[in-house]
Amino acid sequence: MSGRVLLLGGTGEARRLAEALVAGGVDVVSSLAGRVAQPVLPPGEVRIGGFGGAEGLAAWLRANPVRGVVDATHPFAATMTRNAASATAATGTPLVRLHRPGWTALPGDDWRWVDSLEEAATAVGRFAHVFVTTGRLGLYAFAGLPMEVVLRTVEPPEPPLPARTTVVLGRGPFTVGSELALMREHAVDVVVTKDSGGGMTAAKLTAARELGIPVVLVRRPPLPVGVPVVESVEAARAWVLNR
Ligand code: NAP
Repeated sequence: MSGRVLLLGGTGEARRLAEALVAGGVDVVSSLAGRVAQPVLPPGEVRIGGFGGAEGLAAWLRANPVRGVVDATHPFAATMTRNAASATAATGTPLVRLHRPGWTALPGDDWRWVDSLEEAATAVGRFAHVFVTTGRLGLYAFAGLPMEVVLRTVEPPEPPLPARTTVVLGRGPFTVGSELALMREHAVDVVVTKDSGGGMTAAKLTAARELGIPVVLVRRPPLPVGVPVVESVEAARAWVLNR
């Protein structure tokens, strides 16, 4: 067993954890899916691209034994999280899930919870100017919407898109001021988001509250049973140092 740690990344927390571990002398290999053309790379070793399912990750772990795996992927990266749980169980590798807390409504919020992007598309049926911030994948769920849709993604989205779509490219963090300006410019009357949690993209929720408009939130997929969960970069770092 080496002292190395495999960090499944693609989030700001994963990058900050890599920074903290590398600064402390821990040997880290960060893994990115390769979806973003120019990712902000963490320090330490980086590998890019899928492993080839749970079996591929298990084979990687057998070839590259590590002291532990930190699954710091996005709360909606359910396939990678499931594969990490099964590959680490198959190889006897310790695993922890770094899962930032979801968002909580404040007084004045009009939040409408749904279970999928398809349900979100149904929930916005009566609105005129929809701001969709659910990311580039799964947008086909909104393709049939007839109203104006403002779509914000990090990378250009691919068709099929709603007929009246304005694409706004942008990567967080966003400010409340810029979110208010964007929503006012497009007369947005409803916001659609995943319950991603964290501060990077929370400004749109504050802006929606200030404008008095509803937010449709997609619930998170469930976590694998039996995998320990930590909610902060600091707790994940402590877990690694205790291995
Ligand atoms: P996903 O649906 O859970 O995973 C699909 C496949 O992508 C996995 O089976 C795996 O391929 C590969 N993959 C995902 N994360 C990987 C990683 N860190 N390293 C190597 N391969 C990875 O994942 P996703 O939702 O498409 O997310 C992809 C990446 O974007 C993740 O790093 C995630 O943290 C980040 N991200 C996702 C969202 C979101 O809303 N889903 C938002 C922001 C950032 P193989 O089966 O071939 O191993």
